[in-house]
Amino acid sequence: MQSTPKTFRIKSFGCQMNVYDGERISELLTDRGLAAAPDGADADLVVLNTCHIREKAADKAYSDVGRLKRDDGSRPMIALAGCVAQAEGAEAKRRSSMIDIVVGPQSYHRLPEMIAEAAGGARPVDTDMPAISKFDALPKRGRANPSAFLTVQEGCDKFCTYCVVPYTRGAEISRPWADIVAEAHLLIDSGAREIILLGQNVNAWEYDGRGLAELIRAIVRIDGLERIRYTTSHPVNMSDSLIAAHGDVDKLMPYLHLPVQSGSDRVLNAMNRSHSVESYLRTIEKVRATRPDIAISGDFIVGFPGETEAEFEETLQIVDAVRYAAAYSFKYSPRPGTPAAMMEDQIEREVMEDRLARLHSRIATHQLAFNRSTVGLDTRILVERPGKRHGQMIGRSPWLQSVHAQTTAAPGTMIDVTMTAAGANSMAAAIRQKEAA
Ligand code: SF4
Repeated sequence: MQSTPKTFRIKSFGCQMNVYDGERISELLTDRGLAAAPDGADADLVVLNTCHIREKAADKAYSDVGRLKRDDGSRPMIALAGCVAQAEGAEAKRRSSMIDIVVGPQSYHRLPEMIAEAAGGARPVDTDMPAISKFDALPKRGRANPSAFLTVQEGCDKFCTYCVVPYTRGAEISRPWADIVAEAHLLIDSGAREIILLGQNVNAWEYDGRGLAELIRAIVRIDGLERIRYTTSHPVNMSDSLIAAHGDVDKLMPYLHLPVQSGSDRVLNAMNRSHSVESYLRTIEKVRATRPDIAISGDFIVGFPGETEAEFEETLQIVDAVRYAAAYSFKYSPRPGTPAAMMEDQIEREVMEDRLARLHSRIATHQLAFNRSTVGLDTRILVERPGKRHGQMIGRSPWLQSVHAQTTAAPGTMIDVTMTAAGANSMAAAIRQKEAA
């Protein structure tokens, strides 16, 4: 039996939604009198906020659990949270006797009660999906980072054939307008200068007949907010009103993350992506016509079952057509319970690795070209944290590039700079003269 914990540590894996949930769990436990364990110090309670997107995700979670055993044989109270917890449920307790609590992404507001039950010797499991009530039960937001996440939509109804999210996060749910705007006020009052609206399909957010564009236009009117972004979008939900917002909402940053996954219509169809290469390119064209300097980023999967060399070439062609400023690419990973995992023609690992390496280098070429195209531009960066060098701070450009500059400006400050040099993954910038005077 575990004693009632006084300190905690949260380890979040995977997507920004998990990072957001990790922040909310931390606020919840702090609100209930627990303290975050100092870096490197032992904690009475460890929350593993897991991701289920890749193969072996569950195995990795269990080995992380195993590593929590101390040399003297004792261990902290362990809560398995996130998407592996949701997928495994009570099975997780059978797989590891060290797991005291199993809690899904929609139920973590019940963690304090579950901790009390675990301290009493029980091993509670909660993988219900009452999405909305979670937010109502969470304490007000705490101190915010200069750039703060704000979840507006959860779950997914798209059922791409390779993806577990619809099973681990449930159906698409849009949070109420008033709750989102209230949380935005709280974040800005507690230090956020940029808000990133989050959702598995954030651009599918809709409430009372209003869409994401209207929500963005409302939030940017809050005093103190400098910038707003949103991620992750689905091509079929890129509405004309959202595209138009990129043209006339100054605080909406010129950055769009729009996953496409493949450049082949046959593969997109087998993935159940419900759009074609042509319709995707048309959307990119519209966005670029509205905001010519916009940075586009994407997601790709190589080695989807049955993908031929010719179809992979089509993926390289769409990368060249869009000239991504950044993109994330992965080897196909069969996920238990997904239709694609049962498909024939699973691609060999070596072929996948070869394609991934070729895709990476093609993407890197365009990313560097994009970074070079911003050298010499005058722009503003939001300072986020100290850099490695003395007097160096790191921030983000409007195009979400990581930018380092010599400055005394504190995190949360917007500074005027001239971009001076481009690297593969970051930029250098100089403070514009007016500040130096
Ligand atoms: S849109 Fe597809 S890939 Fe994205 S979360 Fe939904 S099912 Fe998964």
